[in-house]
Amino acid sequence: MTLMATFEVPEHVRPIREKVTRFIEDRVYPAEPTIHAGGEEANALVRELQAQAKSEGLWALGHPEELGGGGMPFLDYVFVNEVQGRSEFGQVALGTYSLQDSIMLHKYASPEWRDRYLKPLVEGEIFPSFAMTEPDVASSDPTQLRTTAVLEGDEWVITGRKWFTTYANRAAYTTVMCRTEPDAPPHRAFSMIVVPTETPGYTVVRETPVLGISGGHCEVDYDHVRVPGDNLLGPRGHGFVIAQERLGPGRIFHCMRWLGQAQRAFDLMCHRLNERVAFGEPLADKQLMQKHVFDSYAEIQGCRMLTLHAAQKLDRGDQARVEIGVIKVVGARMLHDVIDRAIQVFGAKGLTDDTPLSFMYRAARSGRIYDGPDEVHIQAAGRRVLEEYRQGRGWDFGLR
Ligand SMILES: Cc1cc2nc3c(=O)[nH]c(=O)nc-3n(C[C@H](O)[C@H](O)[C@H](O)COP(=O)(O)OP(=O)(O)OC[C@H]3O[C@@H](n4cnc5c(N)ncnc54)[C@H](O)[C@@H]3O)c2cc1C
Repeated sequence: MTLMATFEVPEHVRPIREKVTRFIEDRVYPAEPTIHAGGEEANALVRELQAQAKSEGLWALGHPEELGGGGMPFLDYVFVNEVQGRSEFGQVALGTYSLQDSIMLHKYASPEWRDRYLKPLVEGEIFPSFAMTEPDVASSDPTQLRTTAVLEGDEWVITGRKWFTTYANRAAYTTVMCRTEPDAPPHRAFSMIVVPTETPGYTVVRETPVLGISGGHCEVDYDHVRVPGDNLLGPRGHGFVIAQERLGPGRIFHCMRWLGQAQRAFDLMCHRLNERVAFGEPLADKQLMQKHVFDSYAEIQGCRMLTLHAAQKLDRGDQARVEIGVIKVVGARMLHDVIDRAIQVFGAKGLTDDTPLSFMYRAARSGRIYDGPDEVHIQAAGRRVLEEYRQGRGWDFGLR
């Protein structure tokens, strides 16, 4: 049966979505300057927000119930995720930062590692981290990754260097993508191995700020790091399969949060246009300013429909590889361009920290690179569509 895509928030999701919106706007927005500044005051404020979210039934809403989460179905949760994404700190405040890692551990980890990490992960007591990218190879092509893991007796010995491991400097463990099968074909040569960050030989070399923001992106050296054999996730050589399972729904969540950020920028832009007067009339009356509204409207709405369509395909068991690749690219561009226009409308003020736009803009720029740069997704989606034509099936948008 073909289901029609729904783009409006379903009736039964509206009350909880409204509660999350209020939490983000009334409590997380005012906390942003302190959290940006970092340090103990920031940590205490995050813990306070987390405690409030737990006591108000807003914690980890998208995590499966058996893991202690709210158990919201995927297609309901995407709408909540959208409003949670209006603030960069929404995920941490509402306990959803660990969603992809919890699901990965739940599905693939040994009973010992599930016991050790899952509950504290969902409770927000520990941070996870995930390491694929390496400084010395073009990591857009992960078949080139050089970090190795060799089984010696019943221990994996890991050697190599990763960077851009987000939150490695505060995480309890890192899931590391390692070459374990040197003689296998490239897509079966890698495995995922869980490495507790206190393991000897695991050293955070430095944090690399991104466009001036300290986001916890770390370079990490692995010098003969030894971990037990059963720290392996899933079967040997299964690294690409696990990475793909992790990234698919992850990209839907990224895009929905980006839509939340874009909504915030759009709101700020429209209010400013109505309030600010130049050359004898509100900015809102100037056609060039109206074009900013038009372009942003079209991009947000278009991206929203593409994203929800991809989410619905994924929910029906389709891998939606083309659709997810497209939204990753369109979503990141949309976000960048909408915030860029909002900054333009604000003039010099848009570049200061007097509005959230400066931070949002810098964070948005990364979206075109992380989880695979635009070009990789464009190439893969283009190839897949062309292959459908080569096979004689074509691509009928009305039926896809
Ligand atoms: C904020 C942020 C957080 C991140 N968090 C993590 C994390 O937690 N864990 C992790 O492992 N990694 C993380 N990354 C790393 C990110 O996933 C990689 O940077 C990304 O996959 C690209 O790899 P690379 O930087 O090695 O670029 P390269 O592979 O060196 O590519 C450089 C450029 O070459 C071009 N290019 C690449 N391939 C093609 C192609 N096929 N066709 C045409 N042009 C191409 C693109 O323009 C690309 O930007 C993060 C990155 C950022 C910015």
